[in-house]
Amino acid sequence: MFIISTKAMLKKAQREGYAVPAFNIHNLETLQVVVETASELRSPLIVAGTPGTFSYAGTGNIVAIAAELARSYNHPLAVHLDHHESGTDIEQKVKAGVRSVMIDGSHHAFTENIALVKSVADDCHRYDVSVEAELGRLGGQEDDLTVDAKDTLYTHPIQAREFVEKTGIDSLAVAIGSAHGLYVGEPKLDFDRLAEIRQQVDIPLVLHGASGLPTEDIHRAITLGICKVNVATELKIAFANALKDYLSIHPDTSDPRHYMIPAKSAMKQVVQKVIFDCGSEGKL
Ligand SMILES: [Zn+2]
Repeated sequence: MFIISTKAMLKKAQREGYAVPAFNIHNLETLQVVVETASELRSPLIVAGTPGTFSYAGTGNIVAIAAELARSYNHPLAVHLDHHESGTDIEQKVKAGVRSVMIDGSHHAFTENIALVKSVADDCHRYDVSVEAELGRLGGQEDDLTVDAKDTLYTHPIQAREFVEKTGIDSLAVAIGSAHGLYVGEPKLDFDRLAEIRQQVDIPLVLHGASGLPTEDIHRAITLGICKVNVATELKIAFANALKDYLSIHPDTSDPRHYMIPAKSAMKQVVQKVIFDCGSEGKL
């Protein structure tokens, strides 16, 4: 089995004080780059996709390519459902081979969020699938998910404890001031709040919206209990910018085997940097 859950890998990260990087992938090339680079650095790896990504690339295609890459590099990895909101959708993808899910009920009221997450967690645990959920809301935009930055609600530490106890989730995504997409101003993480959450909750904590966060912020978040760091936007921008540069210099090119090379090497640099920021190299 090369497609695994995140349960053991996040627990190990928690014990040993690093974070596992989760990269949002969109196509074959992104998958190739993240697995190859994680393999070179012997880093545990989560490849993640939003519902939009799985619709775009096909769940079966993503699982099959990830499994084959994991097998060929002898590098077990998790395929993770990022920001999924439907229990039925999650169940179908679990049956297609996914072993790590995020059920995002963070837009619901507290009680409804608990009920939804608990029901999905109970279902998933029957398949030995690890479950992440979010309490509080992040600002910014990720695919169809838009939250006005002003309406961002931070995670409440005492509520977090109740949420974890009542849902039985394996990891908790916290809202402490990080945002999806690129930061408009200086990102300000609420580290005091993160420390309070850690005191109340003993499962691995997850930081969404890490694209563009300074390395020292990621390091500090890890020392305060963050065990999974999500990166999406940084990869997309590196890919698109390198591609645009190449095509503008070589307007007559038409061969993806040529123009994907600079796009892939730009993504590789991002993946390497994130792995070093997470301290996950050599931890497979
Ligand atoms: Zn997210």
